[in-house]
Amino acid sequence: MWRKTEVINNMTNLNERICIIGGGPAGISAAMYLQKKGYENYEIYEKLNKVGGKSYSPKIMVNGEERSYETGAIMGAITYHAVHEVEEFGGTTHADGPNMRRMYRDSSGKEIFPFDPKKDFSVKKTIDLLRLKKQMKKLVEIMNTKYKGYDCYGHRGVAQGRYSGLDKSVDNALNHIEGVNPNLKDLALPFDKFCKLNGVEDVMKIWIGPYTSFGYGYFDEIPAAYVMKYLDTTTAIEFVNMRLWTWKDGTQSIYVNANNKLLHPAHLNTEVVKVVRPAEGEEGKIQVTIRDAEGERVEEFDKLIVTTPLDWFARFADAREEEKELFSKIIHEKYVDFIARFDENAGPTISGYIFDNMTYDRLGHAMVYYHRWEDLEANCPSVVYALRNHLGSEDVSYEYTIDTMMNDMELCGFPVKERLYEQETYYCPHVSPEDYANGWYDKLEAMQGKQNTFYAGEIISFGDMEDTCAASKDIVSRFF
Ligand SMILES: Cc1cc2nc3c(=O)[nH]c(=O)nc-3n(C[C@H](O)[C@H](O)[C@H](O)COP(=O)(O)OP(=O)(O)OC[C@H]3O[C@@H](n4cnc5c(N)ncnc54)[C@H](O)[C@@H]3O)c2cc1C
Repeated sequence: MWRKTEVINNMTNLNERICIIGGGPAGISAAMYLQKKGYENYEIYEKLNKVGGKSYSPKIMVNGEERSYETGAIMGAITYHAVHEVEEFGGTTHADGPNMRRMYRDSSGKEIFPFDPKKDFSVKKTIDLLRLKKQMKKLVEIMNTKYKGYDCYGHRGVAQGRYSGLDKSVDNALNHIEGVNPNLKDLALPFDKFCKLNGVEDVMKIWIGPYTSFGYGYFDEIPAAYVMKYLDTTTAIEFVNMRLWTWKDGTQSIYVNANNKLLHPAHLNTEVVKVVRPAEGEEGKIQVTIRDAEGERVEEFDKLIVTTPLDWFARFADAREEEKELFSKIIHEKYVDFIARFDENAGPTISGYIFDNMTYDRLGHAMVYYHRWEDLEANCPSVVYALRNHLGSEDVSYEYTIDTMMNDMELCGFPVKERLYEQETYYCPHVSPEDYANGWYDKLEAMQGKQNTFYAGEIISFGDMEDTCAASKDIVSRFF
């Protein structure tokens, strides 16, 4: 049996001063978990004028009424256990969000029915759908048996055939689990190879919808571990059946409300520009230089929780060689989205998925558009999404991507009148299948706590709200 290697910090000092860099889901949830544990001496620094990070839900006026739209995170599911804890802390509910609805189109904009055996009936389609159903069943079975332990948050030990982390399963949510399972090493394979190895290639036709269209990359480049930790079989089935959580005031409201309940809400418009830590093994305070409207000043802390991208941290902090080397391996997706307004009564009335555009030879094409408010029908602004990078291909430019997305919307019959907001995000940080197999996550784990620095945020488990909040819980429970 694998020996328990969890680091338990018995030196709890509730008075220590803790700096949290970043006021996104990871930073706000880290503060909440610290506070729940009795730590009251923490500060959150957020460089923007808002909390929530990539959970950004701007308000837009339509038909004389202001409502929230989503330009970042949209949805959750029954497996959003840590997000639910943040919701409860802030007094937010997902019971009031709009229903998710969708249809499918091909690259020419024509409506298609890939999963409905009765529409566009053919014997081949029926056989294909039956095979898909069988393979989905097989995947559920092997994930719970051959790959037992795959669905805890985080990646500690996976490359060595172990698991250790908080459980994502509905029955045992957020309890620590660990064990040995040599089969887990397969999860370092790109997802397409993992599916082939297990004879379940067809399931990619289902997983691609919530995975690639939501900017998380292509199945030939992403280790299966990320795909299956995000879209564990329970979450994937909730997606298929559209039993999804949304929030009336947007996902940002989860973090705004929680931030308001903190003893020390985030300092907004306050960027961390420099970090100087005592050398390894030496006593002393961490010097954090912050920049706000009044200029720059240095604050002293005992501990640091980093929720910003770690490759950025390596640039503004006094990074050791091992930090620079490890963080230089992080890859992120270049995910572009804009909120489109259409002529009166001329927009979509339901969200659309364009599966043909979810392959890397279609970089820059619109993969999905999100129609949020059913009652606004064809007057609802919609959010359009595309990726412009793929490991092994040349990036397409931002300008090309915007033009192509506009053209795709026109092909679907919805010429965009105006782009109300547009952005490209540093999205879904991850490592390559090779770096994953070479133990990138175990190297990161070995660095946790060195120079009183703790790494949190999206890279720890996956680039969604749930995995980031669960990573904060895990870090606070193990090290504080
Ligand atoms: C278009 C889009 C759609 C998405 N859809 C979903 C979805 O449906 N469901 C889901 O669960 N997730 C979704 N996500 C992902 C989710 O939003 C992210 O995984 C989550 O926000 C990550 O939280 P984080 O705190 O780790 O990082 P971030 O949200 O990126 O927050 C980091 C924060 O740190 C701040 N910061 C950076 N540098 C500094 C500095 N030097 N000093 C101070 N502050 C700094 C940033 O301003 C930011 O606020 C989506 C994201 C996008 C962009």
